[in-house]
Amino acid sequence: MSEKEYLPRRVMSIHAHPDDQDFSVAGTLAKWAAAGCEVITVIITDGSAGSNDPVHAANYKPTLASIREQEQRAANAILGIKETVFMGQPDGELEPTVTLRREVTKFIRRYKPEVIVTSDPQAVFYGNGYINHPDHRAAAQLALYAAFPSAGSRLLFAELLDEGYEPHNVKRVYIHGSEKPDTWVDISETLDTKIAALKQHVSQVDTHEVDEWMRKWAEEEGKEKSLKYAEAYKVMILEEQEESKPEN
Ligand SMILES: [Zn+2]
Repeated sequence: MSEKEYLPRRVMSIHAHPDDQDFSVAGTLAKWAAAGCEVITVIITDGSAGSNDPVHAANYKPTLASIREQEQRAANAILGIKETVFMGQPDGELEPTVTLRREVTKFIRRYKPEVIVTSDPQAVFYGNGYINHPDHRAAAQLALYAAFPSAGSRLLFAELLDEGYEPHNVKRVYIHGSEKPDTWVDISETLDTKIAALKQHVSQVDTHEVDEWMRKWAEEEGKEKSLKYAEAYKVMILEEQEESKPEN
């Protein structure tokens, strides 16, 4: 099956901070949403550490958390995402604990996504200039191990059964930011939507520079496959799709 034809029916996008999704995978999500896919965003931390402005003291954190929640909702509205889950963990302190994996597992069992979209838990460094935020790695690890084995294993977190959360098998995991991508999603038609979504994160991004940067990144990600703009993934296929019926 070529990647062009693959359209999941329901997707869960799992990330650490408000804005992570929109920097990385929003072009793919907008494309799928426009084609009828239902997308659920899960943001694990509250984003309350996302400011270095010296005017703000520690008591600004709850205000910033609420600003960032609104920014993510505005971004998701642009992307065509109707459902957003904020888990509210403290920004900058995320660990991939079993307790949090149980929580993420619960959301996967509740919404039953076919695909999980997240980042690469192995990415410690990007180039020579960026040490990957530890929250990003922790969120990716939570997403990955909630997708497998936790969501589909009946007696793993068996107490969830008593709460009515039956096992659910995720079919694919799309991992963005991998050193060795194997799947490219053409986002030429949704790059503008991605940029518009990212610009909703007013507390985080320089809205004047975002256009140029996002175009440059999308060009770089598409280069290997001669696509003008792309988002590149390593894709884990945990369960093959049923063959679609031939058209009459
Ligand atoms: Zn982040």
